Amino acid sequence: MSARKKPVPCPDCGSKKLRLPICMGGVWVECLDCHKSGPMHSSPERAVAAWNREAIHPKGKAE
Ligand SMILES: [Zn+2]
Repeated sequence: MSARKKPVPCPDCGSKKLRLPICMGGVWVECLDCHKSGPMHSSPERAVAAWNREAIHPKGKAE
């Protein structure tokens, strides 16, 4: 039930080479191929969730 969510492939380049850098108490998802960065959060789970949300519902698409 508590399986950790995995980030979806990069919405910009489709790469699955993602990492979770941690800096100054924040963590975010970063694509190793195009260097797209997701929103910074205080926990990896939240960072992954925010990345996935943005990947599935990109900003600028008003729907
Ligand atoms: Zn990418």
